Amino acid sequence: MSLLIVRLVVFVLLFWAGFRIWQFWQAKQQLPGDKPSNQNQANSEIMVRCEKCKVHLPQGSAIKAGEEYFCCREHQESFEKE
Ligand SMILES: [Zn+2]
Repeated sequence: MSLLIVRLVVFVLLFWAGFRIWQFWQAKQQLPGDKPSNQNQANSEIMVRCEKCKVHLPQGSAIKAGEEYFCCREHQESFEKE
């Protein structure tokens, strides 16, 4: 009989742990959507092209130099030298 109780306790603990992990995952996935800066998020999703290597990257992580965009400082510098 005590074995049954132990099994029940283990089952409840496993269920509780799984529920907590699920809650943790839900909270983690909801974090980006909770940000009030929806406009900044939309702006960062605009894709721009590096003038040097033609790779596409989000505007937020691109380096802007005048009207041109670059993926990194090195490409910006080498493009300006040409
Ligand atoms: Zn580049």
